[in-house]
Amino acid sequence: MKVFFLFLLFTGCALKLKQGLKNKHLPNFIYSSSKTCKAYFIAKNRGKTLNEYPCYCGCMKFNGHKGLYNCFFKEDGTPDEHGSECDMCIDEIIKVDEELKKGTNKEEIKTILEREFGE
Ligand SMILES: [Zn+2]
Repeated sequence: MKVFFLFLLFTGCALKLKQGLKNKHLPNFIYSSSKTCKAYFIAKNRGKTLNEYPCYCGCMKFNGHKGLYNCFFKEDGTPDEHGSECDMCIDEIIKVDEELKKGTNKEEIKTILEREFGE
C-alpha cells in the first residue's frame, strides 16, 4: 500500500513537471527520487525569483550560479543536473518553498537558510 502511494506521488510529480514544459522529454536525473522530482517541480513553478536565495553548497562560487533556481534550471530554462546530485540544494529549495507557503518574508528565509545551511 505504501509502495503504491509512493508510486502515485512520484508519477504525479513527473506529470505535473511535464505540463507547460516545451520539451516534454525530461532528463532522467530529475526522476532519481521523488524528493528530487519535488525539488525540480518547486524550481520550475517558482521560477527565477528563487535566484534571490543563495545556495550554500558552493555552486555559486564554482558553477557561477546566481542562486537556488540555477541549481535546478539554467538561465534559459533547461534542467541542470547539478540539483539532482546535491542533497543540500534539494533541502534548501524545499525549505524555501515551505517557508514561502507559511508566508515567511524573504529576509527571514535568507536568515533561516544561513542558519541551517551556511557555515
Ligand atoms: Zn547548489
